[in-house]
Amino acid sequence: MNLKLYHFMPDKLNLYGDIGNVISLKKRCEWRGINLEIENITNTTGIKLSDCDMFFIGGGSDREQAIATEQFSKIKNEFKSAIDNGAPALTICGGYQFLGEYYKTADGEKLAGLNILDFYTESINSKPRLIGNILVESDKFGDIVGFENHGGRTYHNYETLGNVIIGYGNNDDDKKEGLLYNNLIGTYLHGPILPKNPKIADYLIKAALENKYGSVDFSNINDDIEFTANKYMADKLRATLK
Ligand code: GLN
Repeated sequence: MNLKLYHFMPDKLNLYGDIGNVISLKKRCEWRGINLEIENITNTTGIKLSDCDMFFIGGGSDREQAIATEQFSKIKNEFKSAIDNGAPALTICGGYQFLGEYYKTADGEKLAGLNILDFYTESINSKPRLIGNILVESDKFGDIVGFENHGGRTYHNYETLGNVIIGYGNNDDDKKEGLLYNNLIGTYLHGPILPKNPKIADYLIKAALENKYGSVDFSNINDDIEFTANKYMADKLRATLK
């Protein structure tokens, strides 16, 4: 079986190890005998999203997000229909913020989003950045662990990835993290997120396979090391509550 992933703007949107998510997807496919072809997209002119099975957008500084905005605006409608049709996508922090209506930077600049989903993100100059390790309890994925560093606060009413136990997540008010819409995941977790949260990686791979091949025999792989890393961080963070 073959899958193709578009990695958008890897030269600009790649904070705190975000590239590790792509490596994780590639390896987890390889371990199952699936060939995952990765195409780095730095210019969206002429690309066809229907040629691809999965999308990845990492996070970036405000400056780099501003530069990437122009590239995303060219594929806005096509990207929206891919997501509405159930294409799996992982979007991290700045990449997540692009899905909404706008991201207002700490300098007050309003960067237009793709408007795929009905939400907005704002950085507030007088408020501190939201930085640190984060633990989320998720009904779908169990404990999710990672690292966050963002000025933007995101507000929405969509399904989230779960409840924030330690850290901030979408904002500093509602103790919710991320967003789940069809097979699109938005999250503030860097780290990267997938190597130590393999259930999320498999969720994306399985969705891509099912879209392309119908129902598939999706084998489990030995995740002892990954779950040990996940549990180590989850235990360490929970211990700070006591
Ligand atoms: N520049 C955005 C913010 O500060 C996103 C940062 C990131 O991707 N880590 O909110």
